[in-house]
Amino acid sequence: RGIAWVDGKITSMEEAKIPFLDRGYFFGDGVYEAVKVVEGKLFALEEHLERFERSMKEIRITPPKTKAEFTDIIMECLEKAGIPDAMVYLQVTRGIGPRMHAFLPQGEPMVTLFVAPMASLEESVRVAGVSCITVPDERWAHPHIKTLNLLPNVLAKQAAAEQGAFEAIFVLGTEPGGGLVTEASSSNIAAVIKGKVVTPPLNGRILPGVSRAIMLETARAARIEVEEREITLEEMRGAEEVILTSTGVEVLGVCELDGVTVGQGVSGPLTRRLYEVFMAGSVQRLT
Ligand code: PMP
Repeated sequence: RGIAWVDGKITSMEEAKIPFLDRGYFFGDGVYEAVKVVEGKLFALEEHLERFERSMKEIRITPPKTKAEFTDIIMECLEKAGIPDAMVYLQVTRGIGPRMHAFLPQGEPMVTLFVAPMASLEESVRVAGVSCITVPDERWAHPHIKTLNLLPNVLAKQAAAEQGAFEAIFVLGTEPGGGLVTEASSSNIAAVIKGKVVTPPLNGRILPGVSRAIMLETARAARIEVEEREITLEEMRGAEEVILTSTGVEVLGVCELDGVTVGQGVSGPLTRRLYEVFMAGSVQRLT
């Protein structure tokens, strides 16, 4: 039981289809609300729609419908579903388009909604209460797993794009100059500091990049000194060279950081050398 509303089309839940290229699917790039329906009446609808709008604005999705329009759709679906005790689930994603982190220039938000039965809790449960456990609050704190929770990466890449930059590098902690650089929105980072190639360690705060590993391995094989250790923002600002590694960019020099020239303002000599040994080593890894 239950019905789905996908971009204007109402179907059963089973028949509902979401476009493969929806950014919700690839990035979790969207927001949602769930509203309780008790005996056919929506509970706290206005509050939910307010928060829904706020959530959209926070992640810079222009609300594709007004609260009144959302209300009309919800009412229509509730009536069609005919389920007195239900949940209305409302979702807006940044829409459909080729998979790229930054926002699509012509992206249109995608609205989906469903109404599904939701029984109220048993009175016995309400009387007895429930048991709980505690867990560390590590939400967003597992960047070493290559998950689809990429909204922070999407927002970072978009910020870079809007400032005419290629990548955004994450800094952990806010102590002036003391924050640690971890990785970039879709690449790992390294820097040349006092002549040595350094890259942040695999301590759970970065994705263990395949390119990062191959860069380290091919560099060591070529007797280029490399070290895995934390890098502060201040150190990176003063580095001779800053380097990105990823499947897409392989080993790539950074010429400018927050508007300030890095090193000589071009891809540096060690970056070039690392790229050469990386590409030479790549040949053996072709399947
Ligand atoms: N960090 C993040 C957050 C990434 O998305 C990527 C790209 N997959 C990388 C690092 C680089 O990983 P790889 O070298 O395996 O492409």
